Amino acid sequence: MIPYARQNITQEDIDAVVAVLHSDWLTQGPAIERFERAVADYCGVRYAVATCNATAALHLGCLALGLGGGDTGWTSPITFVASANCLRYCGAKVDFVDIDSETWNLDADELARKLEQAAQHGKIPKVVIPVHFGGQPCDMERIRELSWQYGFAVIEDAAHAIGASYRCAPIGSCEYSDLTVFSFHPVKIITTGEGGMLLTNRQDLYEKLVLLRSHGITRDADRMTEPSHGPWYYQQLELGYNYRMTDLQAALGLCQLTRIDDFIVRRNELAARYESLLEGLPLTLPVVKEDRRSSWHLYVVRLDPAHARIGRCEVFENLRRAGIGVNLHYIPVHTHPYYRRMGFKPGDFPEAERYYAEAITLPLYPDLTESMQDRVAEALKGILA
Ligand SMILES: *Cc1c(COP(=O)(O)O)cnc(C)c1O
Repeated sequence: MIPYARQNITQEDIDAVVAVLHSDWLTQGPAIERFERAVADYCGVRYAVATCNATAALHLGCLALGLGGGDTGWTSPITFVASANCLRYCGAKVDFVDIDSETWNLDADELARKLEQAAQHGKIPKVVIPVHFGGQPCDMERIRELSWQYGFAVIEDAAHAIGASYRCAPIGSCEYSDLTVFSFHPVKIITTGEGGMLLTNRQDLYEKLVLLRSHGITRDADRMTEPSHGPWYYQQLELGYNYRMTDLQAALGLCQLTRIDDFIVRRNELAARYESLLEGLPLTLPVVKEDRRSSWHLYVVRLDPAHARIGRCEVFENLRRAGIGVNLHYIPVHTHPYYRRMGFKPGDFPEAERYYAEAITLPLYPDLTESMQDRVAEALKGILA
């Protein structure tokens, strides 16, 4: 079976992790700070905070922005559930902004329309979480303008998009947002096993994130409410969590980061190759806008229902039977039972639901060989002929 995604692990990666095992620190040691600094420098951003996964990072981001019960946050319905769940962890309400029919990202025009309506009822969200779906950046300039106009914060869910860029600004630079979140899950662009990171240029957010990542505890005498009792002393200032990354993970991430440019180049090559291999089939292929560079986390095609002889499920099942590990990203979040219990129903976000009825994720990862990719294309041709 050719999987839809797969990590790339070298002997250097393994050696880097083993070296940490021989060291004094297994968690919160020097590798964490080195990894944070390296990612921050790569993105051209001031601060980085490593976490145990991106879901925890999204949660911390919402907390640092002060999200709580009574607040609302908006995101895309075509994303992993974590982009919405982070709002619920804070007790906030969730709403969605339908996707753009061309990029499959949260539609900035629809966002503008929805904000105009929300403003009439005094219900502006506290945070909007655009998701750079598949690695293609959202229309960030537009989203940032709306955020200044209406006064909401922006968290970029860039779980797919380390290595992508928008108008020359690397994703993670936070040029158009308050916070950006990366995931280092094995299927993503670079991996730490499990892992995530928050990026920001705002010192106030950075300080809150560091505090909340580790139980809300500080050892900084300047932040304490009374003089230190002695060298053992620390204070818990807030209700925080244990959302730390280990040094083992950070060492792996540092080593992976040295290859990120190769990964992105290879993913772009393979995406371009898919485009020519799949030409003429009844499929809508992904389109990347001219002012952005995709990290190509996912290669999603949409079956054209007007021109295909068979349905999407049949195509999907036939591909799996042919040993092609296709997948589907994503089930529209608002249609999950948990969100339906909040009043969402099929039909609420028609563009997202149309997308869901047609989408198939094809294999794409740096170690996918051209002959494997040819097999994927041949299988699709045979099924769609
Ligand atoms: C993978 C993913 C996450 C969660 O990442 P974890 O590191 O697994 O917690 C969040 N949002 C999106 C869009 C993702 O794809």
